[in-house]
Amino acid sequence: MKLPFNLRNFDGPLTRELVREPGKFGLGQVPSKVAPDATTTMVCGFCSTGCGLKIHLKDGQAVNLSAETDYPVNLGMACPKGWEALTPLAAPDRATTPLLRNEKTGELEPVDWERAMVLFCERFKEIKAKHGAESVAFLSTGQIVTEELAFLGALFKFGMGFVHCDSNTRQCMATSHVAYKQSFGFDAPPFTYADFEESDVLVFVGANPCIAHPIMWQRVMRNPHRPEIIVVDPRKTETAMAATQHYALTPKSDLTLLYGIANILIASGWIDRDFIAAHTNGFAEFAEFVTRFTPDHVAAETGIVVADLWRLTETIAQGKRVSFWWTMGVNQSHEATRTAQAIINLALITGNIGRPGTGANSITGQCNAMGSRIFANVTSLLGGHDFQNADHRAKVARVLGIPDERITSQPSLAYDQIVQGIEDGAIKGLWLIATNSSHSWIHQDRFNELLKKLDFLVVQEMYTTTESAQRADLVLPAAGWGEKEGTLINSERRIGLVKKVSRAPGQALADFHIFQLIAHYWGLGTMFTRWSSPEAAFQLMKEISRGQPCEISGIADYAHIDAAGGIQWPWSEVNAECKNPPAEWRERRLFEDGKFFTADGKAKMLFDMPRAVAEPTDAEFPFVLMTGRGSSAQWHTGSRTDKSDVLRKLAPANCYVEINPADAKRLGIGPGDEVSIRSRRAFITATAFVTSTVRAGQVFVPMHYRAVNRLTHAAFDPHSRQPSYKYCAVSVGPA
Ligand code: SF4
Repeated sequence: MKLPFNLRNFDGPLTRELVREPGKFGLGQVPSKVAPDATTTMVCGFCSTGCGLKIHLKDGQAVNLSAETDYPVNLGMACPKGWEALTPLAAPDRATTPLLRNEKTGELEPVDWERAMVLFCERFKEIKAKHGAESVAFLSTGQIVTEELAFLGALFKFGMGFVHCDSNTRQCMATSHVAYKQSFGFDAPPFTYADFEESDVLVFVGANPCIAHPIMWQRVMRNPHRPEIIVVDPRKTETAMAATQHYALTPKSDLTLLYGIANILIASGWIDRDFIAAHTNGFAEFAEFVTRFTPDHVAAETGIVVADLWRLTETIAQGKRVSFWWTMGVNQSHEATRTAQAIINLALITGNIGRPGTGANSITGQCNAMGSRIFANVTSLLGGHDFQNADHRAKVARVLGIPDERITSQPSLAYDQIVQGIEDGAIKGLWLIATNSSHSWIHQDRFNELLKKLDFLVVQEMYTTTESAQRADLVLPAAGWGEKEGTLINSERRIGLVKKVSRAPGQALADFHIFQLIAHYWGLGTMFTRWSSPEAAFQLMKEISRGQPCEISGIADYAHIDAAGGIQWPWSEVNAECKNPPAEWRERRLFEDGKFFTADGKAKMLFDMPRAVAEPTDAEFPFVLMTGRGSSAQWHTGSRTDKSDVLRKLAPANCYVEINPADAKRLGIGPGDEVSIRSRRAFITATAFVTSTVRAGQVFVPMHYRAVNRLTHAAFDPHSRQPSYKYCAVSVGPA
């Protein structure tokens, strides 16, 4: 096969490997590990549920798929996105060659990989030489495989010598990461999906699994215990409609409500004193703190009347197996971390953790948010290690075979701080990998204006048409899910396998191989020769994880993951020594022994006074704008889901706004009318969906439409630095 780029002057080991095995670079057939006309299994690459799919091949190419019946996650079910997972690979706007912006015409024009790599390295090296190691940053994703995340973080920080990088996990799961780390000593979601079926009370706070995680919701529907399902959400979401109790609180009063529940539980003696004494720290201070959240005060702040507050609390108190679940309604808030920890505190004081059907359980968003949180080398050093800990740095350096001093203790700026760095002129170069920040970042117009200040913007992407790719100086064409191999880690810590079942189009390369090329062209010599393939990188991750709560040293290889139906961390060599693992090991939860990952083994109760929202409503902007997922057929900015005719038919094509009938009547707005929505930052139009799912004074616009983040206000949780997408002030009127 003729290689699509000229490597005549480059006779390193990588070139020889390219010539010998072009298929590994997305250029040939699927790997011989998968028989050409077989059916093989792999996990879905959209959301963090991590469903197992059967991929049906013909002549080595995926032609169809079906849901895997024996996978412990989805048990034969898949949502519309999963069923359509192959469709986006064939989209006509795939990036098939590197593209460079012509400075004269302003157009993106094809170049070969060699030119792209030379330019990538020259331009970023120039910026580094002129402005220092802190002047180039990357923003990546929870959408690429763990091995690629680990490679990228190691390459950028240890190899290329830069400091600042972050991921779109910051928009999604940073809060859960910080909340767990502070409370439990490690970023450790404690649950397994079997808990959905084992609870007798499930409490969903700011979570709409009917839409956002439909297969998890199916697991709830399989619960044989006739559970109480409590939804705490300002909107009457699809999940709220199906729940047994819905509490439509005032937007962003959840922290007050949770403290109020704790106060009643403690004052009424509905707590597990033995568990608290044996396994927690900080209870006395927490109990004293919450006394100020009297039922009357909570009712005034949240809009939940006192009788309902008692009913909610009593339901929790009477439950034998109570599980608490949260997602973006909590995480995307100005006081997100303390809200997540208030949920954790409820589980701790009632002893609802470490037993079947219990837990303080954060549901993640992206297919590999968990991989990004632990192995991306962004906020934590690889394997959930600490950049500040010299022993951790030495351990990681030893496993990777690099000098200790290559690993800096300097922390990275968070996403919003990188954006601010662009505004301040400190960040001059930016590399976006598999994320569409120009659509998804909060206060979008500011972000896109700031991109113009950059000296060099590289976007590594599957598609040429994303809002971010359209602004790039250089586009690197990337293979997508199904065109490469690696692992994803789902919400319940299960490591699942992704395989190459389709050829990437044109010259598109797996992100892993793009990083290999960059390592070579940057001149890093032999520093990354251990990263010879995704599976070799997985072996490095295993070694790095040794002794950590997320240890995976007992997983032999990819074949082991495949045969086991995914493997939850931790899975150490102790597990591996068990020749006949009991069936229940397929679904394991953490903290069954009551030991947390803190120094003394006890969980910490953390709390703070609630703070006012960053942008309250006023006479000029009297509505609260809430954003969120619109339908189970849409995924984030629609880069992939919009490619499917089927998925497009399952959601409105145009941006719409949910508005309460009373507000609509008062403003003279009818169903289907075009309305204007204005914030202090921008003005957009949307189609009116007149519905009582939102209360008077509130409107909701799905996050998938390009316009919505023109309106949102850039406020952040101080601990996790996660953006507060769920609350800003707008005005609404007929267009
Ligand atoms: S629920 Fe998530 S993982 Fe499962 S099929 Fe749908 S998108 Fe894929």
